[in-house]
Amino acid sequence: MVRFTVLASGSKGNSTVVTGGKTRILVDAGLSCRELFRRMKLAGEDAATLDAIIITHEHSDHVSGLAVTARKLGIPVYFTQATHRAWVRWLSPRKQMTYAQWLEQCRQQAAARMAEADAPTADDCDPEESDTTVDDLAASADNTSSSAPAPKKKKTAAEKDPTALPSIQYFEAGKPIQIGDISISPFTIPHDAADPVGFVFQAEGVRMAFATDLGYIPPNVKAQLKSVDLLYIESNHDLEMLRDGPYPWSVKQRVLSRVGHLSNEACATYLEAEYDGQATYVVLGHLSESNNLPELARISAERALNGRASLLANRLLLAPQHEPLSAICF
Ligand SMILES: [Zn+2]
Ligand SMILES: [Zn+2]
Repeated sequence: MVRFTVLASGSKGNSTVVTGGKTRILVDAGLSCRELFRRMKLAGEDAATLDAIIITHEHSDHVSGLAVTARKLGIPVYFTQATHRAWVRWLSPRKQMTYAQWLEQCRQQAAARMAEADAPTADDCDPEESDTTVDDLAASADNTSSSAPAPKKKKTAAEKDPTALPSIQYFEAGKPIQIGDISISPFTIPHDAADPVGFVFQAEGVRMAFATDLGYIPPNVKAQLKSVDLLYIESNHDLEMLRDGPYPWSVKQRVLSRVGHLSNEACATYLEAEYDGQATYVVLGHLSESNNLPELARISAERALNGRASLLANRLLLAPQHEPLSAICF
């Protein structure tokens, strides 16, 4: 069974469950742990069976629930090294750390994780999340940080280090990895983050491309989006709505830039002129609530797809922000 379930999409949070064979991966964790679990239940996904979390980039709408969720489930988190580092810095804004110090902290955390691996603690979660109903899923990390002041009383791992994770795995754009039954090809996308990536997931012969948060579609991304069965692509804003909308000029410039977000128009241009029409499903994602309307995004993509007779079989779906999209099954 191969399944693609968008739990949330947009600037208030992004998260998707990709299932292939016996493996389930959470792609980004941009909602609170409690809300992620609630949406998984709504969508018929079992949080307790997740095997790993993989992160596209460190913006808060992709990682806000990451640490709590990973600790609660006791599962590994896959990042690029630069994204992990940026995330750690984001959560430790007052900590001035050199790269060497950061590496040393990671080394010490890894040693602490190994030492604690057989003694999981149950108190390693955000108090806000404490009523989440996943049983028997204790966090296993109880790390110490080299640069933290000596604790006066016993603290939970999260208090000691909010970036503590059960296990960290690094990957690099351009180098495919395997998580259980799912093959993953990470590729670089143009976006204003430390080392942002998109993915092609492949399982049981089904290929699913994941490309949101990108300012434009460069040749390396176009190459990745070929011959896929599912295309999850950004359709962030309507250009006119953005230009006339409420954002300050600097933010408008950022969104419009080559490392911002893909407009309805840019998405449609790609679908019309370059997309190979192979996907059974085209899913539009990361729609702006301030600068877009679902119907504008839909019409724009529909026109682009319908302009080509061979593409009539493509099913067009929109990924919502506030509720999960029904699981897409292959
Ligand atoms: Zn985003
Ligand atoms: Zn982003």
